[in-house]
Amino acid sequence: MKTVVITGAASGMGLCATKKFLRHNWQVVMADFDEINGQKKADNLATEFPKTKVIFKQTDVSDEQSVQELAKFSQDQFGQIDSIINNAGIFIGGAVHEIKASDWDRIMNVDVKSIFLMTKNFVPAMIKQKSGVIINTASVSGLMGDYNMAAYSAAKGAVVNLVKSMALDYGKYGIRVNNVAPGPTNTPMFQKNPQSVIDKFVAASPMNKIVEPEDIADMMYFLATDEAKSITGQNIPVTAGFGIYSSQPQ
Ligand code: NAD
Repeated sequence: MKTVVITGAASGMGLCATKKFLRHNWQVVMADFDEINGQKKADNLATEFPKTKVIFKQTDVSDEQSVQELAKFSQDQFGQIDSIINNAGIFIGGAVHEIKASDWDRIMNVDVKSIFLMTKNFVPAMIKQKSGVIINTASVSGLMGDYNMAAYSAAKGAVVNLVKSMALDYGKYGIRVNNVAPGPTNTPMFQKNPQSVIDKFVAASPMNKIVEPEDIADMMYFLATDEAKSITGQNIPVTAGFGIYSSQPQ
């Protein structure tokens, strides 16, 4: 049985990814800052998927000690970790002059430094076992500019380039590293937008829809399997066509 550690697993894409891997009989460590929600979701999923194993570990992905504890806990519970999904993230909006310096630091820590910390703590065992798959959640906001998203766009832009360095450094150990770059996706994070903003995002898709978190989970699962054995160092957009045009939607 294979094992995956998923961060931000108490909600949205991370929760959908957890279900997707469990359906395929993977063992899952759900890591999230939100202890109450995370533990409740893990308990329910353990009942729903009795043939495999799912456990929750409260983790702050921006904190070095917390991530070290997650790595030790995961390895003690399951031995080999086959894949990590660095998915936890936060959104803080605004143009540069509107963003507090403390919020800038927070978004960089949660959306970028977390990937550094997760990789630093999980990759040594993957190097030893000469296999592993690392998947990060980037964003279309890291592939192009966006209004009122300066800090978020900068953070995800860093993730977009980090994946290439990681893929280069770890390819020789049989470790693949890829990003999923979601477009606007129907999760609690996105649902915080006013309806008028949601409508604009829907209209900006040639398919007239936003992405569902299950669509992102499907791509994460694909990337974790041997079906994707020749894919590494890529940012793979899952966007319902959002942002593929250079003119305004008609
Ligand atoms: P979400 O808010 O539903 O879930 C994010 C989860 O991350 C939450 O459970 C939260 O508790 C957890 N989290 C936040 N800070 C944490 C920390 N310090 N340590 C551990 N866990 C923490 O959001 P989502 O939409 O599912 O977001 C998942 C990822 O997708 C994020 O990286 C986000 O930036 C990215 N993304 C989202 C969208 C979108 O439209 N929803 C688009 C592109 C990219």
